[in-house]
Amino acid sequence: MTQPEPASSPARHPEFAPDTIVVETGRPQRVDGASVNPPIDLSSTFVSAGDISNSPYAYARFDTPAWTPFEEALGQLEHAGLPGLVFGSGLAAISAVISLVPAGGTLIIPTHSYQGALASAEQIAGRQNFDLVTVDIADTEAVIAALDEAGHATAGEAASPGMLWIESPTNPMLEVADVPALTAAAKDRGFLVSVDNTFATPLLQTPLDLGADIVVHSVTKYLAGHSDVVLGAVVTSSTGLREDLHTERSMRGGIAGPFEVWLALRGLRTLAVRLDRAQANAQVIAERLAAHPAVVETRYPGLPNDPGHARASAQMNGFGAIISFTVATADKATAIAEAVRLWTPATSLGGVESLIERRRRHPSEPVTVPEGLIRLSVGIENLDDLWADLEAALA
Ligand SMILES: *Cc1c(COP(=O)(O)O)cnc(C)c1O
Repeated sequence: MTQPEPASSPARHPEFAPDTIVVETGRPQRVDGASVNPPIDLSSTFVSAGDISNSPYAYARFDTPAWTPFEEALGQLEHAGLPGLVFGSGLAAISAVISLVPAGGTLIIPTHSYQGALASAEQIAGRQNFDLVTVDIADTEAVIAALDEAGHATAGEAASPGMLWIESPTNPMLEVADVPALTAAAKDRGFLVSVDNTFATPLLQTPLDLGADIVVHSVTKYLAGHSDVVLGAVVTSSTGLREDLHTERSMRGGIAGPFEVWLALRGLRTLAVRLDRAQANAQVIAERLAAHPAVVETRYPGLPNDPGHARASAQMNGFGAIISFTVATADKATAIAEAVRLWTPATSLGGVESLIERRRRHPSEPVTVPEGLIRLSVGIENLDDLWADLEAALA
């Protein structure tokens, strides 16, 4: 086998801090003349004589060295002990996970989940014949009541009662779930727990440590970080679940391209410094918005009086860089998003550049999201420039 050694294994440097891991991990073996960065491997097939299950790589829809360094980095950052799995988009990752809910079971999902996750869940639930229950994920008692009800409804019929889907903080309402309490309650009742960790990233929150079974990411956002790639990932510490999700990826076949994954690893290198700067900007901007007369409500877990502040402080290492704030009307919100000159009016989030969007302009956004709600993805530009531009638009 002339296969190059895969990049560093998750166990190799357990002592490093996360902001070192993002820089250090997933590099080729340190020998004279070796590349410092992994190459972009474009091969679709790999040398494999005899028993194909003995080859680390055989065919690039199943596994490829183009994915391995990034998958190992994610596994390490999420404390999984196993490499992650890249998918062609965040939604592909989400759909694969939701497909694990058994017929006759229940998927409990936040009312204010990422709207694509909700739409995907509705479609898969209809086809696979499981129940879909939406909950206010910040209301722990209500979620536990939903788990109890779903558990009774499915007792005896399905192999497992189903799955609790957690997104925290939620997109775009910035609600914070009590992740340890919810994972404990769900597991007591036999439910799998999946957490969409896109807003927090593994630098701010490691859901597997909080009891979750599966973590999903839209790598498109902070992990890649430059608004130039669409990609997703799933991470789990269960070999059985990883195998099921690997099969799901291989069989549906909508896989990630080598160049996209290479870009994501390149973006990951600067995640810690990008997040530091974006969070520092977001904290000040949220404080100023909260004090601004044109703003009806500001949601940012870093504000001391935010309903999610105590929980976020307990389970996260930082508050992230997404803010949502509400102005009186849809028209005012639209006018603000059109008046900015530095902020870019665009959907998506997590890139180095600051983005602004009135969320209800999407017909698919839940109607419980206020018409005048604006979501900010705070980038790494100069804070004074960002605030001056936003303040002028608010006026
Ligand atoms: C963007 C997003 C997704 C979907 O990811 P894609 O890469 O666009 O498919 C899922 N969850 C959250 C929280 C997101 O912000």
